[in-house]
Amino acid sequence: MGLSNAQYDRIMKIYDQRRSEHSLEQQRRKEECYQKIPALRALQQEVVQSALSRVRASLRKAGEAPVPAPHRSPAQAEKLRRRLLLENGYPADYLDPIYSCQKCKDTGYIGELGKKRCSCFQEAVIRLFYQQSGLSEVLQLENFDSFDLSWYREDLIDPRTGRSSRDLCEDVLNSARQYCRLFDQGGNRNMLLFGPTGVGKTFLTHCIAKELMDTRHSVIYTSSQDLFDQLAREQFRYDPDEDLSFSREFLPESDLLIIDDLGTELTNAFTSTSLFTLLNSRIQAGKGTLISTNLRIMELRDAYTDRIASRFIGSFTLVRLFGEDIRCQKSTRFARQG
Ligand SMILES: [Zn+2]
Repeated sequence: MGLSNAQYDRIMKIYDQRRSEHSLEQQRRKEECYQKIPALRALQQEVVQSALSRVRASLRKAGEAPVPAPHRSPAQAEKLRRRLLLENGYPADYLDPIYSCQKCKDTGYIGELGKKRCSCFQEAVIRLFYQQSGLSEVLQLENFDSFDLSWYREDLIDPRTGRSSRDLCEDVLNSARQYCRLFDQGGNRNMLLFGPTGVGKTFLTHCIAKELMDTRHSVIYTSSQDLFDQLAREQFRYDPDEDLSFSREFLPESDLLIIDDLGTELTNAFTSTSLFTLLNSRIQAGKGTLISTNLRIMELRDAYTDRIASRFIGSFTLVRLFGEDIRCQKSTRFARQG
C-alpha cells in the first residue's frame, strides 16, 4: 500500500478532528447532566477535591499534619456516578470518553509501543483512496460482481480470431481478475485495454479499480483529457498558488494510475513528451498503469511517437475487447421494452 506523506497527513488530520469532536461532545454531555442532576455536579466536585487530597497526602513531609482521607474511593465514586445517571434516565456510560474506535481510542495505532496501525487506519486509507480516485459512487454499480457477459453475443464472430464476442470477453474478464490477483505478486502491473467505442472498456477499468482499492491500493482515475490538462497546469504554472499535489505526488506515487480513453485529447509535442515521461517513471518505480483506448497500437504510434508505441508493446499486457456497442444495445432494448 503506497501512502504518500500528504495522504498520511490527511488521515492523521481526520483522527485529530474526530478526537476534538468527541471531546466537545463529551463536554456538552457533562454540562447537560450537571445541570439536570445537581448530585452529579456535587459528586464531580468531590472527586476533584479527593484527587487533590491524595496528591497532597503523597507530598506530605514527615512532621506535617495528616491530610484527611477522602470518604469515597475513586471506584466508589464511579459506581455512584453510574447509578445517578441510570436513575435519571441516562445510559450508565453517558459521560465516559467517546471513541469511534475503542481499539485504538482514535489514535489510529495500537500495540504495546503504539506502532501498529489499527484496522480503522486501514479503513481510513481505503476511504481516502476512494475520495481521491473520484470514483466512489460509480464503483458501487460497476464492478466485477455486476459485470454482465450477456451483453457480448455468442453469434458475433471476430474475423481476426474466429472466436465469438462472448468467448473473447470471458478471456478478457479472466485477464482482468488475474491482473488484480497478481498485482502484488510479480504480475505485470501495466495493461492496455483497447477496442472500439462502447464495448465495456471503461466498465472493466472500474472493476479493476474497485478490486484494487478494496485490497488497500491507492488508485488514481483520470480521463486522458484531464490528465494532460493537469500536467500542462503543472508545466506552465498558469496559477502560481494552485495546489499541485495531484500531479506532483499522486500521479507518480499512486499504486495504480488509470487513464481512460487515451487518444481523445488533443495530441501535440507536449502530450507525447509528458505521456512518455509519466509512463517511464511509473514503470521504473514499479507502479501500475492501466490505459483504455479506442486506438490500436499503430494508431497510438501515429498519435504519439514510436517510443511510446514500443513502451506499450514492451511493458504492457495488451488486451482487446471485441463486441457490439453496449450503449446502443441498451437503448434499443429499453426502447423495445418501453
Ligand atoms: Zn482504531
